[in-house]
Amino acid sequence: AQKIVVVGGVGGGATVSAQIRRNDKDADIIIFEKGEHIAFSNCGMPYYLGGVIKDKEDILVSVDRFREKYNVDVRTGTEVISINRKDKKVICQNESGEQEVSYDKLIISPGASPIVPDVDGRNEACIFTLRTIPDMEKINNYIEQNQPKKAAIIGGGFIGLEMAENLHERGIACTVIDRSSQVMKVVDKEIAEVIHEHLREKGIELILDDGLEGYSNNGKTVHLSSGSTLQADMTLMATGVKPNTDLAESASLKLGRSGAIEVNNDMQTNDPDIYALGDAVETKDFFTGEPRHVALAWPAHRQAYLIASHLAGEKVENHGIIGTSIFKLFDLTIGSTGHNKATLEDAGISYKEAFLETYSHAKYYPGSEKLWLKIVFDAEKGTIYGCDVIGFDGADKRLGVLATAIRGKMTVADLEEVELGYAPPYSSPKDPINILGYKANQQLS
Ligand code: FAD
Repeated sequence: AQKIVVVGGVGGGATVSAQIRRNDKDADIIIFEKGEHIAFSNCGMPYYLGGVIKDKEDILVSVDRFREKYNVDVRTGTEVISINRKDKKVICQNESGEQEVSYDKLIISPGASPIVPDVDGRNEACIFTLRTIPDMEKINNYIEQNQPKKAAIIGGGFIGLEMAENLHERGIACTVIDRSSQVMKVVDKEIAEVIHEHLREKGIELILDDGLEGYSNNGKTVHLSSGSTLQADMTLMATGVKPNTDLAESASLKLGRSGAIEVNNDMQTNDPDIYALGDAVETKDFFTGEPRHVALAWPAHRQAYLIASHLAGEKVENHGIIGTSIFKLFDLTIGSTGHNKATLEDAGISYKEAFLETYSHAKYYPGSEKLWLKIVFDAEKGTIYGCDVIGFDGADKRLGVLATAIRGKMTVADLEEVELGYAPPYSSPKDPINILGYKANQQLS
């Protein structure tokens, strides 16, 4: 039987192990996870902190159950500290000391870590990041013990905004601070404006074009680049993540241009016996084939499938990544996929754009809500490169349709023709997707 060693036991690591077991009943699979938990839902953590998910157990998976269900040797509390590629061994460390374990194939999914700006006061007890279950517990305990009234959130990406909603729901007044002129840099400016308005409407204070300088007063005074300060009983740093590459680098595995681990189409590193996946790797962009780092759950799961298939000797094409994301912000659903204007300009691709402000379904039927759609497409052929969709109802459906259209290399002319099904509670005889298609296609013909 093949001996497969997996480093990291959450998004990528647990998934690839389960996937391999489906293909191979006999493989010896060992997962090393330095934390105490495996296969937990990082994505559920903001909702536990907001009280939407009441029971922590709902986002955890029992190590024993995982072990039993997949017949995988799970070793938590054990960190892999180095890789000896020559002898195909990993050196790991836990409470009882160091140990060497051999492998036939090694799979690394060490994830990413929150970027913590190197500023004064960043280690104070009221300043947090959110990546792991212990991080979540620390935040929860702090809230329970100190009853904070005000929180500062540094960074307006999806984790910062999800946390703004959830802390707000818990009765904590939040200020979101971002050094750029908009939150959610993946969406275009018009869409970001809608998000800004919704945040303010919900009572979240927003400070843009201003960065974090440091903390004083035991972390309770937040200093900004403009010289202004604000008082906060707690702060969440949500300024992005960086791939965990130390282990790979120390084993001379190659990093790519983005700074994440470089892999080929089969997810092998420059050592063919070592695969890598998840937030730690860069893969290729669906359109350009250029390296792209997308730290989301879908890519990790797809990559797990690619690795398990490759190990089983099946050839599965890797077409690269479009980069679809979606999240909820109070009443709003915010979705985005593919390229936006900025990334197209960076890639030197000429594009046109279409923007539509409309309603989710027939206006006369209750529950019809505003919906905004934006697409960018090839200036000549009309092939769709990307979209942002935002709204209160039916936004997830339109995002799904557009993401599928992009994957199918459809053009804006095709959008005129997609039949999505109409009845007043769901749409209009011409769906917003069709109207967007007509609007965009006009620009070509
Ligand atoms: P992880 O899941 O972080 O797993 C890496 C594991 O490796 C860690 O547990 C770490 O302890 C372990 N490890 C690292 N080094 C070693 C070592 N040397 N030895 C042993 N163990 C090691 N994505 C979405 O698509 N949608 C969402 O809604 C969403 N929400 C999120 C919300 C939050 C708060 C966070 C933090 C992330 C969210 N994500 C979301 C991102 C998603 O969780 C990640 O993309 C996914 O978990 C990546 O899987 P991974 O295996 O690369 O990393």
